[in-house]
Amino acid sequence: MTPFVRLALAALLLLPAAACGLATSPSRDRRGLDTFEDDVRGARTLSEEFWKQYFAASGATYRPINDFVPYSGADGPACGGQPSAPNNAFYCSAGHFIAYDEEWMRTLWSRIGDGSVYLIIPHEFGHAVQAQMDTAFELNVQLELQADCYAGGTLRALIDSGALTAEPGDEEELLLNLAAAGDPTDDWLDPAAHGTAEQRQRSFAAGYTRGVDAC
Ligand SMILES: [Zn+2]
Repeated sequence: MTPFVRLALAALLLLPAAACGLATSPSRDRRGLDTFEDDVRGARTLSEEFWKQYFAASGATYRPINDFVPYSGADGPACGGQPSAPNNAFYCSAGHFIAYDEEWMRTLWSRIGDGSVYLIIPHEFGHAVQAQMDTAFELNVQLELQADCYAGGTLRALIDSGALTAEPGDEEELLLNLAAAGDPTDDWLDPAAHGTAEQRQRSFAAGYTRGVDAC
């Protein structure tokens, strides 16, 4: 049994039984399936639309990211003078953009499923939102856990609004992705830096069950 599978089983105990829909209905191909490009575009558009409405509801204005940058291996954009890494996705506060290794993400998408895209991208948008809010957090782990919670809350809101629809098997897929790719940005297995897998799954579940206000 791989560590990923063990983590997925742990996550099964934490998340509700409700199916999680990860399909954007307007963007199906002829077989009724979303393409990778559709899912990436959908995850970005829906995440930003959610936050735009969320900010507006409290009289604030969400600031959309400046850019959404696919890259290949070591060819990613620098952030604040720091080079980007292959097999990664990240939010850069210096340029207020999100970048992702496209082939790496496509591999996750095809091997595990579209849940990978719908976890990674909302997580990164969680960091983009943090940059626009006053946070009392001092530790990186708190920011990471909150971004996990924001990702869960974003999915919850999109499912509740009907923007995402349920498909059989999505729940297991989401859980597997949460375990395998919940935070691809750093050494996410390092408990000192990002919280244990259980903490991260619990944070995601808090947002998923109670919405982003629980974050
Ligand atoms: Zn992160």
